[in-house]
Amino acid sequence: MKTHLVTAEIPPTSIPVTPPPVVQNAIPPPETSFVSAFISDNPYFQAGFGLMGVGVGLTALRQGVVIGSTVLRRRMLVTLEINNKDRAYEWFLAWMSQQASAAPPASSGIKKLASVSRSWTRSHQLSVETAVEQRKNGSSSVLFKLVAGPGTHWFKYRGAWMQVKRERETRSMQLMSGIPWETVTLTTLSRDRTLFPELLSEARDLAMQGQEGKLVIHTAWGTEWRPFGQPRRKRPLHSVVLNDGVSKQVRDDVQAFLLRRQWYADRGIPYRRGYLLYGPPGSGKTSYIQALAGALSYDICVLNLSERGLTDDKLNHLLSNVPERSFVLIEDVDAAFNKRVKTSEDGYQSAVTFSGFLNVLDGVASGEERVIFMTTNHIERLDPALIRPGRVDLTVLIDDATPSQAFTLFTQFYRGEILGDDVRQDVVSDGEVQRLGKMLEHIVEAEMKVGRRVSMAALQGLFIRSGPKEALEGCRDLFVSRRTV
Ligand code: ADP
Repeated sequence: MKTHLVTAEIPPTSIPVTPPPVVQNAIPPPETSFVSAFISDNPYFQAGFGLMGVGVGLTALRQGVVIGSTVLRRRMLVTLEINNKDRAYEWFLAWMSQQASAAPPASSGIKKLASVSRSWTRSHQLSVETAVEQRKNGSSSVLFKLVAGPGTHWFKYRGAWMQVKRERETRSMQLMSGIPWETVTLTTLSRDRTLFPELLSEARDLAMQGQEGKLVIHTAWGTEWRPFGQPRRKRPLHSVVLNDGVSKQVRDDVQAFLLRRQWYADRGIPYRRGYLLYGPPGSGKTSYIQALAGALSYDICVLNLSERGLTDDKLNHLLSNVPERSFVLIEDVDAAFNKRVKTSEDGYQSAVTFSGFLNVLDGVASGEERVIFMTTNHIERLDPALIRPGRVDLTVLIDDATPSQAFTLFTQFYRGEILGDDVRQDVVSDGEVQRLGKMLEHIVEAEMKVGRRVSMAALQGLFIRSGPKEALEGCRDLFVSRRTV
């Protein structure tokens, strides 16, 4: 049976599309008409919108001005920030104060300073820095320097205006030293940015010039080293009169060490050397170390192990951050650990431990140069662990006056070589000074034979007080029974 598949074709039906009815004069929903009517009719509302528009406009304008000025500032101004942790901070303030004081002497070599306007001194925010200047003969004078105080100041440097903002952070302090953070921000036009390095190097040169030929003593401030007082006039090495050959021995050793950095590095040995100068008080230990530092153009960092608040950690930090070209001087090292824990009158106990100190002396195996001088009046009280090689490499006795030391001090002094002609008491011929000096030499020799000694400090004191003949007469009273160390 055949099946036929029959498909029925259904003709497409055309559905009539009726256009949507156009609603004319349609009545709006009652609530819309009410709101718009309210808005359009209410003058307060319209004014509100107007005000809002003005507000938005102003805000946008302000934003625009802020962004514009930031962009302008970024493009046209340049700022330099100096923090008081940086050495340039002090230099800059000193430099600014120099601009305010009288023009520098012609010999100062910094002639460009005159190109700076002094206008900042008209500023209303000033700070004072007091400096004590020590003269050759021991007298001193006090100088007041006006420096820019916290606030905003303006000055002109080489034709360019600069703004100086000195700000002090009152809420936080530098961790160990307790000194508030301070910043100085210099702002000038971008095109004058090259003036910053010039200004800073002028400030540095000025600071260095003040220190040239001078010895800077640093002391510990928390975990930092800071210059103590004004740089001092260097004392000539020969003015500290030591026993024959002693000065040369120490100086040669230090100089040889300073030349052997590579030698130490090649062998992986920590580049450090320790010296112990021992002997009775007033024999010139401290004076010699200072004079030697001056002669080698080194500074001194004085470390007081019994200092309040000093701990092993702080000590470690201090000794790892000694300023370049500085000797560390630890005086009376026996006193710090005499009873292991030193207690001061008010019950305070030094927190540096003996083992901590030894660790610090051994130090980390860094390539940093470290020269440590220690002094003591009582070597017998020192723990042998302290003076073993590696911690103390050279031990030198600096004793009371020998006959020849007394002679040299006498002749140097009365020839005006030590303190200068201004304090010379008597004027006697060089021949006479020699003759009297020889007499003193004999006196010292005779006294030593009977076990009596005199310190160099005592002789110096006598020479300052009296003329050469009187000194000779009065010197016998200064001898004390002291066995030779
Ligand atoms: P020390 O450190 O041995 O106790 P100082 O170096 O502090 O002695 O000296 C005290 C004072 O005595 C200083 O003013 C110093 O000028 C003087 N003096 C001490 N020894 C000598 C010396 N050998 N030569 C010249 N002056 C000396």
